[in-house]
Amino acid sequence: MRKHNFSAGPCILPQEVMKKASDAVLNFNDLNLSLIEISHRSKDFVEVMENARSLALELLGLQGKGYQALFLQGGASTEFLMVAYNLLNKKAAYLNTGTWSDKSIKEARLFGEVIEVASSKDANFNYIPKNYTVPGDVDYFHCTSNNTIFGTSLKSFPEVNVPLVCDMSSDIFSREMDFSKFDLIYAGAQKNMGPAGTTLVVVKEDILGKVERKIPSMMDYKVHISKDSMFNTPSVFAVYVSMLTLEWLKDLGGIAAIEKVNDKKGDLLYTEIDRNPLFKGFAATEDRSNMNATFNLTDDSLKESFDTMWKEAGINGLNGHRSVGGYRASMYNALPLESVQVLVDVMKELERKA
Ligand SMILES: *Cc1c(COP(=O)(O)O)cnc(C)c1O
Repeated sequence: MRKHNFSAGPCILPQEVMKKASDAVLNFNDLNLSLIEISHRSKDFVEVMENARSLALELLGLQGKGYQALFLQGGASTEFLMVAYNLLNKKAAYLNTGTWSDKSIKEARLFGEVIEVASSKDANFNYIPKNYTVPGDVDYFHCTSNNTIFGTSLKSFPEVNVPLVCDMSSDIFSREMDFSKFDLIYAGAQKNMGPAGTTLVVVKEDILGKVERKIPSMMDYKVHISKDSMFNTPSVFAVYVSMLTLEWLKDLGGIAAIEKVNDKKGDLLYTEIDRNPLFKGFAATEDRSNMNATFNLTDDSLKESFDTMWKEAGINGLNGHRSVGGYRASMYNALPLESVQVLVDVMKELERKA
């Protein structure tokens, strides 16, 4: 039996996607060749890249609105510096909501002044700061829509008159938003889209070309756009699997349809965390993420029993990140509601036994 996979990333992908991906590794498009042993310039792969790029824009509702989708390498961590390389002339504003925001700020400081408009570091990032102001004279404002490690998410985004940049690595394609409010969105594939090895960047073309510095080709979004995301060899396998996942999502009914399922999963688990006296949530209630639910036992002496019980129930990947401790249930798009029910049943069982 398959495990109930709550891993934070790399993480669960749809079973049918895995099946198609493994078939393509052996024999892609009936070419009698593997997907990973053909030229990325071949007609068959160029089609994959084109499909993946257009599906990403289509699902986000951004087709024909001046955006380009790119599948780059180096993870979201490379975007921390690429964003600043391409957009930061003098100063930028950042909202600090956790480890990943912190890292993006550190990279941006190499390129100019960074104004940290607000931070929730004072409470180990268990909430999202509100009521901050973004200065009008910055080159862009950067935020992280979902804080994978701490289990918080931004339910709304500030109205700004500067380009809005967002790291959506752990919640892209999971909930509806007006994506046209954003000028640049990036997301490492391995949380909700595909295997590690590629990063989706969606950028509004008219914000580019405004910095004074020279940009090395591999770091330059304009170079990647001009080469249709094939300036150099892309991560062919990761892009292909991402394409399959995006097709899977489109067939399901897109973001609106998956958001309903994600809401159900979140409600099911958070209701139990709130009800069961043996558990307490880590993140502030109003900021809780439906992708990553963080929680603790109220009595640490139950840790051994609980850990044994969830492992015996076939659950994988429930340990919290080392900077938070406790537990983290990651409920990405491909995780079925049934898996959350299994976890909730184990939590109830612990209460009965304790
Ligand atoms: C995982 C993650 C990252 C880092 O992604 P890499 O692809 O490993 O560089 C950045 N931001 C967020 C929000 C993440 O969840």
